[in-house]
Amino acid sequence: MSAKTYEVRTYGCQMNVHDSERLSGLLEGAGYVRAPEDTGEGEADIVVFNTCAVRENADNRLYGNLGRLAPIKARKPGMQIAVGGCLAQKDRDTIVKKAPWVDVVFGTHNIGSLPVLLERARVQEEAQVEIAESLEAFPSTLPTRRESAYAAWVSISVGCNNTCTFCIVPALRGKEKDRRPGDILAEVEALVAEGVSEITLLGQNVNAYGSDIGDREAFSKLLRACGKVEGLERVRFTSPHPRDFTDDVISAMAETENVMPQLHMPLQSGSDTVLKAMRRSYRQERFLGIIEKVRAAMPDAAISTDIIVGFPGETDEDFEQTLHVVREARFAQAFTFQYSKRPGTPAADMEGQIPKAVVQERYERLVALQEEISWEENKKQVGRTLEVLVAEGEGRKDDATRRLSGRAPDNRLVHFTRPEGPVRPGDVVTVDITYAAPHHLLAEGPTRGVRSTRAGDAWERRNAAEQKKPAGVMLGLPTIGAPAPAPAPTAGCGCD
Ligand code: SF4
Repeated sequence: MSAKTYEVRTYGCQMNVHDSERLSGLLEGAGYVRAPEDTGEGEADIVVFNTCAVRENADNRLYGNLGRLAPIKARKPGMQIAVGGCLAQKDRDTIVKKAPWVDVVFGTHNIGSLPVLLERARVQEEAQVEIAESLEAFPSTLPTRRESAYAAWVSISVGCNNTCTFCIVPALRGKEKDRRPGDILAEVEALVAEGVSEITLLGQNVNAYGSDIGDREAFSKLLRACGKVEGLERVRFTSPHPRDFTDDVISAMAETENVMPQLHMPLQSGSDTVLKAMRRSYRQERFLGIIEKVRAAMPDAAISTDIIVGFPGETDEDFEQTLHVVREARFAQAFTFQYSKRPGTPAADMEGQIPKAVVQERYERLVALQEEISWEENKKQVGRTLEVLVAEGEGRKDDATRRLSGRAPDNRLVHFTRPEGPVRPGDVVTVDITYAAPHHLLAEGPTRGVRSTRAGDAWERRNAAEQKKPAGVMLGLPTIGAPAPAPAPTAGCGCD
């Protein structure tokens, strides 16, 4: 009898992308196999929704998807549906009341229970709803099935001690809990031994790391320790909170070779009045001060951010302050959001909710300004020679034979001319930047060099295993451009 197949659908932030890799690892550990990419809606035997609770329509989207699966499940005995993530943590048994064909509901603190709950639901023919109030086990202790062969998320903390008034995370993911530095480094070393060359340290408030273990400099020490891991080429982290951005972290970034010159730091608003109403505990001057220090220490650093437009009470003057900071900070990229009410957050009940048309108008002005700045900042890259980590599935599908894509050290997307010889995702190419677009760079000339890496070997091994073809045939043209879903970049401390 062939193994049962599973499909995990991920919504929201990097934390959910990381958790979904654990959910896949758990299901494969329980003998399920991943349903092929081209599997039609509901053809998998197990469908798991790893939900996000941030956007107003997050609920509608979930119940819409569940509604579409009901008739399919009715025709497919043995099919099971599970719902996890932040919306499950918030809605709990409401989900099985609204969608009684759902078999399992599990929370953000007990993702490890999924296989057991699926089995219990099957045996007892009864829906299982199990939500833990606090973290049972660090998700990073669970088996994983990583999306990428050469890049990995490494969770260093879960939860958040802040209380931003627009955010539901603390209510759903709890207070901050830090992993022990030794556990993190052991995971990093194990990943590098498997061929991983790039890691992203993950936390709701990654630079607050240490507050739970009583060491305020634990994060900068961790960055420096990652600098000593042989074979680890690139270290990134997301997402820092401006308030916790201390000088020791900036020095550790500047002085540790494999920590990349790239920083994502959520601004949310440029107005001190709005920042106060958001309970963001920093003000415009401090934010710009950090940017200045980062640029002094790392002149080539690419800085991106998140901005919410239309927060309750935001006046035209407040919004002008946001535009002022955007002009001053010269972000490489900004994830911009129109404020949306999130039931259960203090901001949802605040006076001064802004009319949609006003929010839309401000949003368009902000996007236009940032688009201009992103392009100008990208134009400064023309003429530079950069090392690009060849990516999987980021390329333009229409000319995969002529062009490949990857990420520069500052995480800018680069499309480059395919080199004569073999190259694989995970390898590193050296290219000259010849053109800049608002959201990517081009290297149209011949590559200066290709460096085959252990990460490229890891990709080749994985691809061979997945295509059940012996290693070595991957050097053929068609496969290397093969699209693979890259996790959509989500902003901020994972969710706004
Ligand atoms: S926005 Fe970020 S820092 Fe603020 S409460 Fe949410 S997760 Fe925490």
